[in-house]
Amino acid sequence: MKYPFQQLQRTHAACIDELKRAAAEVIESGWYLRGSQTSAFEEELSAALGVSESVATGNGLDALRLILRGYIELGRLKEGDELIAAANTYIATILPASELGLKVRLIDPDEQTMCLNLRDAAHAASGKTRVVAVTHLYGNPSWDEDAAAELRQRGIIIMEDNAQAIGASWHGQMTGSLGDASAQSFYPSKNIGALGDAGAVCSSDSQLIAAVRSLHNYGSDRQYHFKYLGYNSRMDEMQAAFLRIKLRRLGEVTAMRNRAAAVYNASISHPDIQTPATLDGCTQVWHQYILRSPRRNELMEYLRGNGVGTMIHYPIPPHRQPCYEGALEGSYPLTDRLAAEVLSIPIADIPEREASEISDIINSFPKN
Ligand SMILES: *Cc1c(COP(=O)(O)O)cnc(C)c1O
Repeated sequence: MKYPFQQLQRTHAACIDELKRAAAEVIESGWYLRGSQTSAFEEELSAALGVSESVATGNGLDALRLILRGYIELGRLKEGDELIAAANTYIATILPASELGLKVRLIDPDEQTMCLNLRDAAHAASGKTRVVAVTHLYGNPSWDEDAAAELRQRGIIIMEDNAQAIGASWHGQMTGSLGDASAQSFYPSKNIGALGDAGAVCSSDSQLIAAVRSLHNYGSDRQYHFKYLGYNSRMDEMQAAFLRIKLRRLGEVTAMRNRAAAVYNASISHPDIQTPATLDGCTQVWHQYILRSPRRNELMEYLRGNGVGTMIHYPIPPHRQPCYEGALEGSYPLTDRLAAEVLSIPIADIPEREASEISDIINSFPKN
C-alpha cells in the first residue's frame, strides 16, 4: 500500500529519541505507578484544556465509566435515569451507561457536523433525562451555549466524550472543558496517543474529581481506607512520561492535520463524493477526514486498488449491534445512511504533497 491509512512509526519518528530517553528515565526511577510523571501529566493536561483538575486513567472507556459512577456516588444520578447520545457515536460512549444501569436514548446526529446537536438533545430530553453525552466525533467540536444553559437549568449533566477531539475548540474554548466533565482517550491512534492504553477524566467540579480519584484507585480516599466499591484504572508512569512529550507536540500535530485537510477540502472534487463541512468559529482537529458517497464500497475498493488505505468509522451503529439487541429500539435513518456512506481517508501525519496525490487518485474515481 503506497498510502497506508495510518503508520504509528511515522507519528513517532519526530520524537523517538525523546520517547526512548523518557522510557529509560522511568525504568531507572524504580517508580511505575502513581508517581511524579502521572501528577505532572495531570497538571499539564488540565492547563492545556482549561479545566481545574484531571485524573489519569487506564483508558478512555474507563474515564467515561468513572464520570458516571462518580455522579452516581455523589447522588446526582441513579439506576434507571436516562442518558441521551448521538446514534452514530462510537459504542464506547454508551457502554458504561448501560453497564451502570442507565437507560440509553439515542437521537440522530446533526447532518453537517455528524455529531450530537445539543439543541436537538434539549428538545428530546424528558423528565427522566439526567445526562447528555456529547461526542465530538471525528474531531468536530459540537456545542450550543443556549441549549447547554437550558439543560443545566433543568439539572441535566453534560458529559463530553472528547476521545477524538483533544485540541479542538469552540469559539476559543477547548472541547473537554465545555461540559460538566469530559473523558479523554490516549489510545495509540488518537491525536495524542500513548504507547498502549491510557485515558483521563477532566473537570472543574472538585467534588466529581475527588470521587473519580477515589474510584480509579479501588475506591480509596486515603491509604487503606475505602469509601466506595471502586475500580483499578490508573495510568502508569511510562505512559504518563510518553504523553507529556506528546502533549507538548499537540499544536504541531493539529497544524499538520489541518494542512492536509485544507488540501483535501480544496482539491477533492467529484460528483459522487462529498467532503466534510468546515465549521465556523471552531478549530477542528481532524481525528478523521470523512468522505461521504452513495458509492462508498466501490470507492473503497477503487482506492485500495490504487494504493490508498481507508477505513469505515463506523460500519455498524450501536443500535444494530448484537449486544444491544432489543435494547435500543427506534429508527435512526441518518445514522443508517452515514454507516453506509462514510469513508475515512488517510489524515494522520500526511504531508501536503501526499494529500494532494491522494486527492488526485480520488478525483480519478470513474464517474457513474
Ligand atoms: C477511542 C474512543 C473511546 C474509548 O477510548 P479507549 O481509550 O479505547 O478506551 C471512547 N469514545 C470514543 C468516541 C472513542 O473514539
